[in-house]
Amino acid sequence: MKTIFEKNNNVDGINFDDNYSNVDFIDEKFLRKDKIGLPQTSELEVLRHYKELSDRNFCIEKGFYPLGSCTMKYNPKVNEYLANLEGFLNIHPKLKDEDVQGSLELMYKLQESLKIITGMDAISLQPAAGAHGEFTGMMIIKKYYEVKGEKRKKVIIPDSAHGTNPASANMAGFEIVQVKSNEKGQVDIEALKELLTDDIAAIMMTNPNTLGIFEENVLEISELMHNNGSLLYYDGANFNAIMGHTNPKLMGFDIVHINLHKTFATPHGGGGPGAGPVAVVEALKDFLPTPVINYDGEMYHRNYNLENSIGAVKSYFGNFGVLIRAYAYILMQGKCLTNVSEDAVLNANYMKERLKNHYKLPYDEPCMHEFVLSGDFQKEKGVSTLNIAKRLMDSGVHPPTIYFPLIVHEAMMIEPTETESKKVLDEFIEIMVKIAKEVEENPEIILSAPNNAPIKKVDETLAARKPDLKFEMEN
Ligand SMILES: *Cc1c(COP(=O)(O)O)cnc(C)c1O
Repeated sequence: MKTIFEKNNNVDGINFDDNYSNVDFIDEKFLRKDKIGLPQTSELEVLRHYKELSDRNFCIEKGFYPLGSCTMKYNPKVNEYLANLEGFLNIHPKLKDEDVQGSLELMYKLQESLKIITGMDAISLQPAAGAHGEFTGMMIIKKYYEVKGEKRKKVIIPDSAHGTNPASANMAGFEIVQVKSNEKGQVDIEALKELLTDDIAAIMMTNPNTLGIFEENVLEISELMHNNGSLLYYDGANFNAIMGHTNPKLMGFDIVHINLHKTFATPHGGGGPGAGPVAVVEALKDFLPTPVINYDGEMYHRNYNLENSIGAVKSYFGNFGVLIRAYAYILMQGKCLTNVSEDAVLNANYMKERLKNHYKLPYDEPCMHEFVLSGDFQKEKGVSTLNIAKRLMDSGVHPPTIYFPLIVHEAMMIEPTETESKKVLDEFIEIMVKIAKEVEENPEIILSAPNNAPIKKVDETLAARKPDLKFEMEN
């Protein structure tokens, strides 16, 4: 029986002929003999499968996500819309400058905005994440001393630092020297002074530090370092605490990275994508990775000619989609960026003050955008911070960061962010108080948690040594 398709085999470019064995331009030996063997599932079945998986996942749209250090704020959907505009989405990085003026203008204006926010004199948008920015910064410092003809091989890092700091400095070829924290959770100035020899290249710090505490002596530290001929690197992951109120330049730093995906609202669960622009003072301008975007008053250009550039650290411009979201977020907030930080700090202090009656607060100081509790009291009763974290999952909240920073036993690092209401903060506080009570009255319920998550309590050691990646879902 003839079908309409045989008559109109090629209608408007649509080929109805699915018998590709007829093609005569491919050598016989390359043609498939058997069926391809793809899974036989309908589009609806595939959609249901992925919807089911996504329902089992946790995200900020589902519940409170106080993962300290990660700034899991709500990311306005308008940023997604803008990043998906045709003109941004369908361009190629190899197009000529004159054909992509809009995108270059966006990057240039983002550069200018971030220069104002950080106080710095020049910037590269290229690095793909915070840790990548750190590595870039360390390479800049290394090259700076090479050009200067100085042999400086060591980088000082506080004992409260994020693990990526020593890792990045080490990857760039530096030796790490640790400086300890004092009883206020800040860099111990006397200990720092003893470390200052003429082979110290730099100190890497974040301010507020990973305890959420502002380093009061930062200006003195900057003076000490500069008098020693050393540079100061600012890990900008905690920028959400200070935006518009102060900046790394005012604090005496020379290089800074900013985690656009944390502070400037790009969704970043599950490892990416991110962007970690690196900004520097005038003296380090020529060492930045290229291209940087310039404006000559008429046209925007990619500039590949920086005299001492460390070279490219990523292809093309870095993660352009993240740059669009960040710029949209900055325009949307305008001067209200200062309110973002104020609310983030207020929320953290509110929770800290209410929770310190129920959990140990090792550094009882005013905090910035996050604070660190210790589960020591609960641990004495046989319930660890890990158990508490799993129990939180039963109440539909994401656990805080745990066992970091390393200088706090049984650490719980809580960062509410500015995007949560008082109602949500109160609910979380009540859950934490309830768990503290359970530790006294009914610890078994905590020890068996999570009791109603998709995956129940696992054997930690077995899960690490022999991960069962083919987990079959129940029901
Ligand atoms: C997140 C974070 C980093 C690393 O940033 P990534 O973007 O995850 O690479 C570094 N330092 C601190 C303090 C952080 O919170």
